[in-house]
Amino acid sequence: MEKVFLAPAKLNLSIDILGRVTTNIFKWSMVVTSLNLFDYIHLTPRQDDQIVVTTDKNYLPKDHRNLAYQAARILQRKYQIKQGVSIFIEKHIPVAAGLGGGSSDAAAILRGLNQLWRLNLSEQYLADLSLALDEDVPYCVFSRLAHVSGQGNIVRPLQTDLKLYYVVVKPDFSVSTRHILRGLDLQKLGYRPDTRQLIKALKENNYPLLTAQVRNVLETTTGQQHPEIGYLKQKLLQFGADAAGMSGSGPTVFGLCHSYSRAKHIFNSMRGFCEQVYLLRPYQLTND
Ligand code: ATP
Repeated sequence: MEKVFLAPAKLNLSIDILGRVTTNIFKWSMVVTSLNLFDYIHLTPRQDDQIVVTTDKNYLPKDHRNLAYQAARILQRKYQIKQGVSIFIEKHIPVAAGLGGGSSDAAAILRGLNQLWRLNLSEQYLADLSLALDEDVPYCVFSRLAHVSGQGNIVRPLQTDLKLYYVVVKPDFSVSTRHILRGLDLQKLGYRPDTRQLIKALKENNYPLLTAQVRNVLETTTGQQHPEIGYLKQKLLQFGADAAGMSGSGPTVFGLCHSYSRAKHIFNSMRGFCEQVYLLRPYQLTND
């Protein structure tokens, strides 16, 4: 019987880099939230031992290059599961956008198969296992507001009572995270967030302090290659956002505000500049 699991988009309120481990591996410090924009992961057990991936977007890989496939394979191998699974990815999160779509799909597979195959593994264990897939997957296993550090594997959930609305704008081009990270010069990072202050702002429900710390050190690099990012952020601020930022390595940008009517106004105004605009709220994963 088919079961459906949610894979929420993630968004970076801040990104800082504390050091480099290898060319592509960094020590991160970032504050990440999940949003109510989802891929839906349909899982159906199979009689044979195959992992079969299908999706409604034909440009996505369906073989071992798909992170969802890799996630299923890891669990199947490690626990010597004889059963296979059919995975249908109903894609709504824009791809290569900085919204962690592939990572969230992989995390939903881990949570889903943990249930389906009755493995009883903890979220923390799944997160540790998932770091091999991509640095965003451990966060996505938790998919709730958190401070993420280490290589992406240390996820500390955070609480806030602030009411937040996000106007999320995905420009009409993609950015390769790998490409941005490979060329990154740590001596020339962008404007760095004070992550401690940001965490304090969330905990103490201090909205002005929060808006002052929405910063992403990858923005300079992506922004130099794609000036549209700076332009869209400026528009978000002009239309009334209290802060504007870039998620992941881009190109998605977002405006933050704490009133629905203001967010709706920004959302309507931004639709004149970009096709893919979303008005979103934070999402906290509990149980699927
Ligand atoms: P970031 O890590 O900066 O947030 P991203 O997560 O937005 O980047 P994805 O949407 O995950 O980027 O896609 C990145 C690449 O991963 C794509 O080029 C795609 O071909 C590949 N990929 C593998 N599996 C998936 C999947 N299930 N969904 C989307 N992309 C996938």
